[in-house]
Parts: sequence; structure tokens; C-alpha cells
Amino acid sequence: MELAQRLKKIKPSPTLAVTALANSLKAQGIDVIGFGSGEPDFDTPQSIKNAAMKALEEGKTKYTPSGGIPELKKAIVAKFKRDNNLDYTISEVTVNCGGKHSFYNLMQVLLNSGDEVIIPAPYWVSYPDIVLLADGVPVIIHTDESTDFKINPEMLEKHITKKTKAILINSPSNPTGAMYTLDELKAIGEVLKKYDICIVTDDIYEFILYDNKKFCNIVNAVPELKQKTMVLNGVSKTYSMTGWRIGYMAGNETIIKQVEMIQSQSVSNPTSIAQWAAVEALNGDQSVLHDMLEAFTRRRQIIVNGLNQIKGVTCHMPDGAFYVFPNVKGVYSLPGFAAIKDKYKDVSLSSKLSSYLLEEAQVAVVPGVAFGSDDNIRLSFATSDKNIIEGIKRIKEAVEKLA
Ligand SMILES: *Cc1c(COP(=O)(O)O)cnc(C)c1O
Repeated sequence: MELAQRLKKIKPSPTLAVTALANSLKAQGIDVIGFGSGEPDFDTPQSIKNAAMKALEEGKTKYTPSGGIPELKKAIVAKFKRDNNLDYTISEVTVNCGGKHSFYNLMQVLLNSGDEVIIPAPYWVSYPDIVLLADGVPVIIHTDESTDFKINPEMLEKHITKKTKAILINSPSNPTGAMYTLDELKAIGEVLKKYDICIVTDDIYEFILYDNKKFCNIVNAVPELKQKTMVLNGVSKTYSMTGWRIGYMAGNETIIKQVEMIQSQSVSNPTSIAQWAAVEALNGDQSVLHDMLEAFTRRRQIIVNGLNQIKGVTCHMPDGAFYVFPNVKGVYSLPGFAAIKDKYKDVSLSSKLSSYLLEEAQVAVVPGVAFGSDDNIRLSFATSDKNIIEGIKRIKEAVEKLA
């Protein structure tokens, strides 16, 4: 039987694939160090688990309203006021099955065939594929270390066409950790004010920030853009709740209604008890974030220092999130890399290097090409200090064999 054409447009999530491969090697008894994972390595806080258990005991195990229980919507409205100084009403917020699902629903609501969505690269692996699944066209703006992996007004203006329907901003970014400052967002916002384009801001890493940096999004920078902006967020990263599948978004009421319609005809509703857990996450004691951030701060330093001591590798210091995206172009030009090019059949250099590191050093990293930049690889530092130190040592040894 012939399957749907749309399957040909997309590929499985490369980050999930690397994690799965590393886990299967571990299961075979091979001592693999995984830098692939896109999730915090901490358990979900006990108070949040308790809230889910209480909901279970109380029989809150039935269908809920499609866009989420009123208690959670209220908690989200309060969260936006408290953390972001943004005012939304209950009918301007909706709950989805993870932040990824929020973006998926939104693209289904916004895009007609051929509509363009501007995505700055390096980008989160799922954005282009989700746009393609909605028959849209991802328009990539390439950035690199020379602009700290950020776009500026000139770059943006060059990529806007009559078909531009939306632009995505992800700050702090997965995979680079780069965060836009208030002034940078103001400059970008001034350009966007002139066009009828939906701005999608993915704020999922708002609380994973270093050096006392303060989070702001484009609506904070240019309040006039509020009606054109959809703010996406979720509990996965902040509260170490990736498996619970709760994301949410806020913005234009008409768009929110349509998202809930799509949701009512696809997943019906996000899991009832996970929603009650999310109510506790958003309303409860926020000090749970503190320990996680302390660990990430320490690990960021270890991994950046370690990578910068490897021949051919240069690593920037991320502003936020828990990833580094070192540049490995220097490794590609080491004499021994020619043999790697021949040996591994992957199509891109970052994939060949990643295959080599997995086989030679038993270290799993994600090739940068998956994020739109073949000069880099991505390592997550959501793993123990011990793993980071050992993993970097192994990468160093494997790379030095090529020198
Ligand atoms: C992890 C992540 C998300 C959302 O993850 P969910 O688990 O689906 O909530 C969204 N955007 C980025 C950039 C991410 O890294």
C-alpha cells in the first residue's frame, strides 16, 4: 500500500534518535556517555507528583475541556502576569500536549499551502518539520558565531516576502543557548510592526538563564506587538516534566479558539492528571528551580572549558538553556579527518564526526546539521558532572588521534 506523500517531507526527530541509539548501546552493555538528551536529568519535584496522585485519588480521570481545565488556565494567566508582566484573559490561553504540540496546533491553524514561516538557524529540530506537515515553507535565516547566533533587523527584512505568514523566535535558544536582549528585540520588533506577520515566541527556556540575566520576550520589548504575537511555553523544561506532556500558549482569542477546535478533533484534551500536576507546578513553590539552576551553572562552566581545550573546537558560553553548540570546523581540517569522511556513509560532516565519536569514544552527540548548521555539534549538559568530565576527556582523545 502506498502511504501518504506528506511522510516524504519529514524525518524522525534526530535528537530523539540519538538518545534512542545511545540507550540501545547502553542496554547492550556498552559504556556510552550520552550528550544527546534534550531534557533535565532531575526528577519531577515531589510536590508536583503529589498533586497528580491526589488528582488520581479524587477520580479526576475523565475527559476535560479540550483546551484545559479552568484551574490550569487560571494558573497560566497568573503565571504570565507574575513572571512576564503580561495580561491575558482565560479565553486568550490554551493548554496543549507539550510545547511541541502547541507549535504543531498553531501551524495547523495559521498556514495555507505555500505560506512561509521564517525560522532563524540554528533552530530546534522540530520547527521546520512541523511547518512542512502543515504544508508551509520554512524560510531559514542562517546565523553563526559572528552574530552570537542571533538575527538582526537587516537579516530579517531580507527574508520577508508577500508569503511570510509567521516568524519564530526562540530565546534562550535550543541548540545555541543564545538569548536576545531587550534592545535586540526592540530592533527586530520595529521591523515586524510594519508587516502583517504572526510572531511566535517560544519561551520554554525562560527560567534556565545564567549570570543573573533577566528574561524578556518580544512583547515586553514592543508591547504594540501583543495582538500579533503567540507566546508558547510549557512545564517540560522548567519543572523537569518532559514526560507529562503539558504545554500552553497565549495570544489572539480567535487563534486560540481554532487551536482548541483542532485539538477537540485530534487529542480531545491533554491528560487530566498531568493538568492537575501542572496547576501545582505553576502555582506552587517556585524555589524548586533553584537547585536545578545551580547544577546547570556549574556544568556549563565545566563543559565550555573542557571543549575549548580540544584541538579544532571552539565553544561559546551559552546565555541560557542546557546545551552547548561548539564549532568543530577545525576538526574537519585535521589530517586524520579524511579517513573519517571515507569511512562513515552519513551525508554531512557533522554526522560523520558524530558517528566517529560514538564508535571511537562511545560518546553520543547530535550533529549540528540537524539544527541547520553543519559546522557544529550539540551537547546537552543535562547530565552529571562526572559524565561531562569523562565524556569530554573521551572526545579530546578521539579528536587528538586525528591531529
Ligand atoms: C523542549 C522544547 C520544547 C517543548 O517541549 P515539550 O516537551 O513538547 O513541551 C519547545 N521548544 C524548544 C526549543 C524545546 O527545546
